[in-house]
Amino acid sequence: MALKIDSSEKYALFVNETKYGSEINNLKDLQKYIDNKYDKKKTVEQPKFYTKTDKATYVNVGNICPACKYEGVSNLKECPSCELNFN
Ligand SMILES: [Zn+2]
Repeated sequence: MALKIDSSEKYALFVNETKYGSEINNLKDLQKYIDNKYDKKKTVEQPKFYTKTDKATYVNVGNICPACKYEGVSNLKECPSCELNFN
């Protein structure tokens, strides 16, 4: 449970040590608790990225995306529909 202390930007954090299963005596312990608690909920999506050194076969795409048949990609570097990279 977190409570905002009146007229300040500080918060008081109350932790149920019985639930946590370990004592929290200092800021380092508290940080560990917070990391543990919130890491589980965090879902980090891996960013998609492409490099010029990809061992990809580059095809001449013309105006139609070879992957999803989206029309109008002749001057684009990436398909706006399926995000296929044309570099
Ligand atoms: Zn596409």
